[in-house]
Amino acid sequence: MKTAQEYKDSLRERNIRVYVKGELLDSRAVIDHPFIRGHVNSASMTYALANTKEYEDLMTTTSHLTGHKINRFTHVHQSTDDLLKKAKMLRTISQKTGTCYQRCVGFDAMNATYTVTYECDKALGTDYHERFKKFLIMVQDNDYMVAGAMTDPKGDRSLRPGQQKDPDMFVHVVEKRPDGIVIRGAKAHMTGMVNSHWMLIMPTMGMQEDEAQYAVSCAIPVDAPGVTHIFGRQTNDDRKCEGAIDQGNANYGIVGGECLTVLDDVFVPNEYVFMNGEYQFSGLLVERFACYHRSNYGGCKGGVSDVVIGAAALWADYQGTSKASHIKDKLNEMMHLTETLYACAVAAACMGGPTPSGAYFVDRLMANVCKHNVTKLIYDIDRLAQDIGGGIIATMPSESDLRNPEIGKWVEKYLQGVSGIPTEDRMRVGRLLENMTGGTALVESMHGAGSPQAQKVMYGKLSGLEQKKKFAANIAGVGRTKE
Ligand code: SF4
Ligand code: FE
Repeated sequence: MKTAQEYKDSLRERNIRVYVKGELLDSRAVIDHPFIRGHVNSASMTYALANTKEYEDLMTTTSHLTGHKINRFTHVHQSTDDLLKKAKMLRTISQKTGTCYQRCVGFDAMNATYTVTYECDKALGTDYHERFKKFLIMVQDNDYMVAGAMTDPKGDRSLRPGQQKDPDMFVHVVEKRPDGIVIRGAKAHMTGMVNSHWMLIMPTMGMQEDEAQYAVSCAIPVDAPGVTHIFGRQTNDDRKCEGAIDQGNANYGIVGGECLTVLDDVFVPNEYVFMNGEYQFSGLLVERFACYHRSNYGGCKGGVSDVVIGAAALWADYQGTSKASHIKDKLNEMMHLTETLYACAVAAACMGGPTPSGAYFVDRLMANVCKHNVTKLIYDIDRLAQDIGGGIIATMPSESDLRNPEIGKWVEKYLQGVSGIPTEDRMRVGRLLENMTGGTALVESMHGAGSPQAQKVMYGKLSGLEQKKKFAANIAGVGRTKE
């Protein structure tokens, strides 16, 4: 396993092309850019905790393929205990970073691809599963960070991939060679991509027979020839070029450091191709990945909300409102909502079961309810945090004002709360509240792991409406309902 320092050092060895605000970064110094540094620190936590005695059981496990001790983020779940440990692990890391540490996307992509390649081979006689196992062993033994790459730009949403005016709106195979394939397109909102080693490409939706060129899954180094990453803007990101206080969470940033990854005729050798035209399994791969990732959000946002609650409670302490009954009530409400988020992640894990490959999969209905709760309850948690915070969390002067020799004394004087608490501490916690409950973080809670409509579509499939009608019809003593 890599240490956090070895992880960072290994990122400098890449020959990666990353653009930020129109400028190409020096590949060895990508991880030092102020927009990116925090996200790297956050991902490093997945390495750092794995190397501690205290978190060894949660963060590491034994590879079912090699028997080697591995970081849990490279593991294929072998039991419901593994699924549960993952939920606990995510909550624990979120409590320490207060933000996304990105590595779960590739973790879920690997688990989904492992299970689906097995089923595809059984049905169609392909040999993707053995190839994938070799790739997985390499990831495990090198403790690589893999970015999961699913979402395509999608162009005109009313049109299927093959109907788009520009066929590159969905990643597709443009050339088949004896030794591999060439792919073209782009992947959007790529969490953690610029600080990963590999990306695992998956289709963005279920494909039909005439869309076989879009049914493609493969692994590519993030610095492969033809790959360019364009880093996304975040709310207030220019503050990252200034002092630490105004950033709120200067060490770890906010959400995952997303980028647009362009694949301009990228060659992929056969050994890293895990789906190439088997459109029948594209929808299953999407669903497996989505359910794994949706179940994460109860652990991940549970831990993030623990930090928001802590910040709101500290803030109340600092300004002398913590004894007010309405503040206590709001904090209790936030705790209830947070545990509700976590409860679904636990349920999805405990109600999970084996797939044909032997790898374990979460309960699909609970996984979708879990993520759907996040699209609502985080807004309530953050609303209550802002209620406790008051207007000052949005109108506070800057760190530069605090440090200014002329006016610093006034900021110090007029932003003080209860005596004995430094004004700077109060500003730091206020900015953390602003940062964690604002623009980019809320949009991520809404759309990360799939927009709410994607979860609602699953209820129709999974929750058995006709069966519910039968329950009611039986109890009401009315005739048979229509099937
Ligand atoms: Fe993991 Fe996704 Fe949460 Fe980031 S947002 S920590 S990738 S579950
Ligand atoms: Fe996410």
